[in-house]
Amino acid sequence: MAKGRKIYEGKAKILYEGPEPGTLIQYFKDDATAFNNEKRAVLDGKGVLNNRISEFIMLQLGGIGLPTHFIRRLNMREQLIKEVEIIPLEVICRNVAAGSLSKRLGLEEGAALPRSIIEFCYKNDELGDPLVSEEHITAFNWASTQEIDDIIALTLRVNDFLTGLFSGVGIKLIDFKVEYGRLYEGETVRTVLADEISPDSCRLWDASSGEKLDKDRFRRDLGGVTEAYSEVARRLGIIKEGGGAEILAFNGEK
Ligand code: UDP
Repeated sequence: MAKGRKIYEGKAKILYEGPEPGTLIQYFKDDATAFNNEKRAVLDGKGVLNNRISEFIMLQLGGIGLPTHFIRRLNMREQLIKEVEIIPLEVICRNVAAGSLSKRLGLEEGAALPRSIIEFCYKNDELGDPLVSEEHITAFNWASTQEIDDIIALTLRVNDFLTGLFSGVGIKLIDFKVEYGRLYEGETVRTVLADEISPDSCRLWDASSGEKLDKDRFRRDLGGVTEAYSEVARRLGIIKEGGGAEILAFNGEK
């Protein structure tokens, strides 16, 4: 499918104009960044894996009635999505202490939380995506109270569903980050899940060994990043047992 004008390039993805008004093409790059761009690498095949994993998860979530921006996958690196106005928040949902929460509150990584916790960060690279409260969000008009209520309810549904999906394949969902957008349909505006859900945006630990199967392998120099992402795709049944070669074979596709 012919891509239109490039309209945005982020750290791991590029957005192009889509074939029809109201659509965009989301292209998954192999670039990995961490610590607000201080650490960078190109990981062969990561974009292909994230495109497939995010497609699978968005379709499953759509199947339980959760509104998403996803329309369909176009090829190994691209998916067709609905154009939305991104709400400038990174919405984090946590089940187990890890990462920045462990540092901030002095909690041991792996400690169970008393209940699932939702946090908001203001999407702003220059500021390093600072943690903000609902007061900041409404005061600065980043989202309305109704939108915050919708975001919380949707994120808890995503968490329930993904916790079950991953636990069924021997993976513990520690935490994840999602983003939402405003979908304008005539007179109405709907809050829909946008961006991606992949091992770049989740913490996924093997349920028995505790092995990390997510971007922490890159952040913490553990190696085997794309192998871990392939393992997640294999367990979800996206690529065949012992497979993965076909993903890398398509790796040259731009
Ligand atoms: N996360 C993300 N993008 C970000 C920041 C965090 O996808 O810019 C995800 C991260 O992969 C993890 C969860 O959000 O699954 C919580 O991340 P945390 O706040 O612990 O940040 P980190 O330790 O990665 O700095």
